[in-house]
Amino acid sequence: MNLSVVVPLLNEEESLHELYARINKVCQENQLSYEIWFVDDGSTDSSWQIIENLSKENHHVHGIKFSRNYGKSQALHAAFDKVQGDVVITMDADLQDFPEEIPELYNKIVVEKYDLVSGWKKKRFDNVMTKNLPSKLFNSAARNLSGVELHDFNCGLKAYRKQVVKSVDVYGDLHRWIPVLAANAGFKKITEKPVQHQARPYGTSKFGTERFIRGFLDLITLWFVSKFGGRPMHFFGAVGTLMFIFGFFSAFWLGATKLVDVYYYHVYGNLIAENPWFYIALTMMIMGTLLFVAGFLGELIIRQSRGHKNYHIEEVI
Ligand code: UDP
Ligand code: MG
Repeated sequence: MNLSVVVPLLNEEESLHELYARINKVCQENQLSYEIWFVDDGSTDSSWQIIENLSKENHHVHGIKFSRNYGKSQALHAAFDKVQGDVVITMDADLQDFPEEIPELYNKIVVEKYDLVSGWKKKRFDNVMTKNLPSKLFNSAARNLSGVELHDFNCGLKAYRKQVVKSVDVYGDLHRWIPVLAANAGFKKITEKPVQHQARPYGTSKFGTERFIRGFLDLITLWFVSKFGGRPMHFFGAVGTLMFIFGFFSAFWLGATKLVDVYYYHVYGNLIAENPWFYIALTMMIMGTLLFVAGFLGELIIRQSRGHKNYHIEEVI
């Protein structure tokens, strides 16, 4: 099979017929063998009935129905498990993305051999203050932290080589960061393509401004995990050891000066515990030990879960 189109959706009944018709048309016109996976992420409107009817009408259409709303990441994850096409294209269900972009995205993967092509809503039709501006800041932070050079990480319209979606583990809210996950998994041929975008014709956005806070926290997690996730001791152990050494020598110095005071100058009154350094030294040693233990526990956990592969093989001959 050439192509799998994946559409996660939550309460998008008004858009589904048109979306389906346009995807269907463009795939047939380009003689692609294809399947469409609609993932109903706990809709409370008639979205699922529509998907059921479409799948009866057309054997290319498949559906997955969640028992409740789990989120876009989980919806993508469920579909990525099932897809069979050599190329996988995801798009939002709200008609903001254009199915007519499919052939060009498809060719970028098949002809130009990219692993991932992300849509770039260069001319964007969303609210300037709540979306466009924060999104600019957000994307530039993401470029700097991840090293992945994209202008629009969160665009719903993306194309992947099949191996990419089978390798990345999209959970939590990580759908925003699939290009970063892919890059961390070793898929380096990542690019973007300016795509058309339009204002939402029906319904309302399912994400509020909290998306930026969540997205940013996830980005920091990803950065940290990609750097130290496989070797926690190198971070916690190093910081912990430094803190402990600092605390230890501070305490040593306090003890030594006390001994000099007593035996050399015969001064008895100065208690070590009256010196603020005493508390700093103590805290440093305790925190240093805790960090070291955290690193050690991290290493033990990794040993336990060795079954989870954390590498991606490009080729075996
Ligand atoms: N969506 C989903 N589960 C959710 C939230 C959203 O499957 O919990 C779908 C939604 O139906 C749409 C896509 O994800 O197809 C993008 O959502 P939306 O258009 O609300 O996001 P925005 O365009 O505001 O970024
Ligand atoms: Mg949208």
